[in-house]
Amino acid sequence: MKKFYDSDANSDVFRNERVAIIGYGIQGRSQALNLRDSGADVVIGNIRDHYYERIEKDGFRSVPLKDIAKNVTLIMLLIPDQAQKEIFDSYIVPHIQEGSLLVVAHGYSLYFKQLSVPENIDVALLAPRMPGIPIREKYLEGSGVPAFVDIYKDATGNAWERVLALGKGLGFTRAGMMHVTVEEETEIDLFIEQFYLPLVIHSARLSFDLLVKEGFSPESTLMELYASGELGELLLLSAKKGIYEVWKDQASPTCQYGIARALHKGFPKDALEDYAKKVIEEIRNKSFLKDLMEEADKGYSKLNKYNELNSDSLLAKTQKKVSEFLHSC
Ligand code: NDP
Repeated sequence: MKKFYDSDANSDVFRNERVAIIGYGIQGRSQALNLRDSGADVVIGNIRDHYYERIEKDGFRSVPLKDIAKNVTLIMLLIPDQAQKEIFDSYIVPHIQEGSLLVVAHGYSLYFKQLSVPENIDVALLAPRMPGIPIREKYLEGSGVPAFVDIYKDATGNAWERVLALGKGLGFTRAGMMHVTVEEETEIDLFIEQFYLPLVIHSARLSFDLLVKEGFSPESTLMELYASGELGELLLLSAKKGIYEVWKDQASPTCQYGIARALHKGFPKDALEDYAKKVIEEIRNKSFLKDLMEEADKGYSKLNKYNELNSDSLLAKTQKKVSEFLHSC
């Protein structure tokens, strides 16, 4: 697997680009600020006025979407994935300059062939493995966050050079960029969102509900589950040491044996694996895509209902008390 660091990128290439960032949300704002601090000429395109004040306050020029593609060489599409098709096809395609570079931060729109990509432009994936706040904070500290990178289309013959220079401007080559294909990045990302994260959240909820039913106090249960921060710290350590090694170093034999015994004996592994296979199948056969599109068309009515149910739960209500306790510590 190829990996890229600062020394692999030539920043001079990137300083010749005029950059348009479309979307000023979680990714858009941090990436715009980092690029400007690295010397790029950046303008922002945003569909609604929601973030207009923040764009102005941050000192960027806001350009109407209908004009955004006219005078730039590099376009970063940093709006929610399911909204990219409409914005790209309506506003970017009619005006995009020959030889421009289009960059997405997640492979979704390319993997599901959502965009009508013109023949004469470069297209790349530059997918940071972190949300916007650490992207900005680490850049300011002099480090960066890691990213996956791939070239989807190289019309100019310079797409790699351009995207590596962009990654350097964003601070990603300080941590390292890995060559991961659009297909791989999209499937892994969606799989983690649809199997691994729900599994973590579900096991927290199941444990909470069961232990409270067994008579334990909601607050102490939540503290033990994740609110004390111990689990988060151990997972952070496992990023450096390894998910098995961290317990060897940090946990008592009772804890270590308890974990090992459950992993090797108790877990319903076959049922979990069957479900995991179903998740990846639904990503590949586009059932998830179809479902998400319908949900977006209905204004995320199911999602809003699920969110309401979650915030009505005893777990969510206990969180408020635990947060107050932690705040006063
Ligand atoms: P956000 O949800 O933060 O995007 C918000 C921005 O998109 C705002 O500027 C908003 O405009 C605009 N927007 C929202 N809906 C629409 C719409 N229907 N049409 C046009 N513009 C719209 O997105 P993220 O920053 O989270 O994601 C951007 C990209 O980065 C995605 O491809 C995502 O997969 C990827 N990514 C995200 C990560 C993350 O941590 N969030 C991590 C890695 C990649 P307004 O203010 O006017 O509402």
